[in-house]
Amino acid sequence: MNTTEINKVKEVLSSPKKIVIVTHKNPDGDAIGSSLGLYHYLITLKHNVTVITPNDYPDFLKWVPGENLVLKYDNNTEAANTIIKEADLIFTLDFNHFSRSGNMESILKNANASFIMIDHHQEPDDYALITYSDTSMCSTCQMVYHFIEKLGDLDKITPEIATNIYVGIMTDTGSFRFRSTTSTTHRVIANLIDWGADNTRIHEQIYDTNTPSRIRLKGIAINNLKILPEYNTAYITISQKELDQNHFKKGDTEGFVNIGLSIKGIKFAVIFIENKGEGIIKISFRSKDDFSVNEFSRNHFEGGGHHNASGGRSNLSLSKTVEKFISILPSYKNVLNQ
Ligand code: 5GP
Ligand code: MN
Repeated sequence: MNTTEINKVKEVLSSPKKIVIVTHKNPDGDAIGSSLGLYHYLITLKHNVTVITPNDYPDFLKWVPGENLVLKYDNNTEAANTIIKEADLIFTLDFNHFSRSGNMESILKNANASFIMIDHHQEPDDYALITYSDTSMCSTCQMVYHFIEKLGDLDKITPEIATNIYVGIMTDTGSFRFRSTTSTTHRVIANLIDWGADNTRIHEQIYDTNTPSRIRLKGIAINNLKILPEYNTAYITISQKELDQNHFKKGDTEGFVNIGLSIKGIKFAVIFIENKGEGIIKISFRSKDDFSVNEFSRNHFEGGGHHNASGGRSNLSLSKTVEKFISILPSYKNVLNQ
């Protein structure tokens, strides 16, 4: 955001507004943390604010401050439609294209409100009055911090804001280890701890939430892991049957894709998860160094995301999807062997 844009935001927020905060489908820690961090900030400025997610999110996020106030569009469609139609201002956080908002796509497209986008994904769409897009940022949560900073309001950060922002920075950086983590990220985190984020407790609440069935599902994922040494690639498949047999709940497969990436020499890790309900295979891609999984997913699996972390989908069966994937790899052999 340049100075003109910051002044525009200040002007818009200078009188009480009806504000909606929306994030992407299947919200993760950064989506929920940024939405609720911003929520708590905007209510201190006396705005009327509603956070709406397209659908439900994992239980390990169901404790962050304000989480109980989130409206899930798929369960409250009528109420949410009314609120969106009456909104003056809509923030879209952690996504940059309406197609990422699930069943909210058409109501957002037709909304009268002005939009403010805060997001760190590549290739932002052009729908917002203010587009605060920065692909160098580790997380949308760090951008919400900088957003508050640019408005001169860091002194308004409460423990509720600090906790939510901490959650998203922690989850999107793999606990401060991915390349996107900078010294600024650590300074932001240090301030958030000073301002009331209980770091140890946050870590426990997010990560120490395994159930016996999730651990068993992880065992299956490890068992199904295949390595393709000629491409420095590892992939995992999980079928709907395997999910059902292990009482799958949303979020249970979170992080499994990193098992492949933790193997020495592996540059490209993928997980294919069958979703019979939606009739698709949900795919997560992760990489190291120069190999862009954002491009890989965009080109072959209707998705996108970041350079080293992206998602996509396939309408083929699980086995045909894996066949397709393996047939594509030879054209990336060089970059995967650099
Ligand atoms: P995940 O594998 O955790 O679902 O997604 C990894 C990253 O890619 C996240 O930042 C997520 O927002 C992004 N992502 C996942 N699926 C898609 C998609 O279909 N399109 C785009 N543009 N980004 C995606
Ligand atoms: Mn994010």
